Amino acid sequence: MKTVQIAIDGPAGAGKSTIAKRVAKSLGYIHIDTGAMYRAITLKAIRCHLDLSDQNAFDFIDQTRFDYVDGAIIMDGEDVSRRIRERDISNSVSLVSSHYIVREKIVARQQRLSKDLDIVMDGRDIGYNVLPRANYKFYLTADVKTRALRRYKENLDRGIENTIAELEEEINARDAFDTRREHSPLKPASDAIVIDTSNMSIEAVVDTIIAKIREDEA
Ligand code: C5P
Repeated sequence: MKTVQIAIDGPAGAGKSTIAKRVAKSLGYIHIDTGAMYRAITLKAIRCHLDLSDQNAFDFIDQTRFDYVDGAIIMDGEDVSRRIRERDISNSVSLVSSHYIVREKIVARQQRLSKDLDIVMDGRDIGYNVLPRANYKFYLTADVKTRALRRYKENLDRGIENTIAELEEEINARDAFDTRREHSPLKPASDAIVIDTSNMSIEAVVDTIIAKIREDEA
């Protein structure tokens, strides 16, 4: 049977995960938040006191188990969904995800996970690297102030307190690092549909994406 794969990329706080989750729910597809995997291995590396700047320190990824269950990410049997949103992880994850070896291992996992599934996957390099043959590719952007405010609200819902100024600074730093890194930088696939969500509600973005898919099915 033919599977349908939807790639959603974009910078930090563009609402990718929330939107991807809702699109997946509405279509009855699986949702994979790929950023959560990079965050989880960053957490594991910090707990093991590894040198995050040493790409050879990440062999442990091969012995790490990831499961996505009801929107939660489970690493080695532990639900780390909330912990990986905290500031220490947000401030270190871009460094960890910039290593070639880390990307090679994680991308292979993501490709294996998505094989033969109807899936919505969100991240930074999905449309041009992880799922280059995805049926639909979207790239979501928004101005930095809107993105910081969205993250602020998301974090509050998770019980994590930051100031909006702190989040704006973190998002700017992460975008700069993710865009300029050598291996699989943040960028839209050449065939992605770019949506500026600054003045759109989450529902409006979800509706735009679903409408595009339905339009093709008709
Ligand atoms: O999506 P989220 O903000 O949780 O991603 C955290 C970090 O993980 C990003 O800033 C980026 O450095 C990295 N990432 C990546 N490739 C992906 C998804 C996330 O490099 N596909």
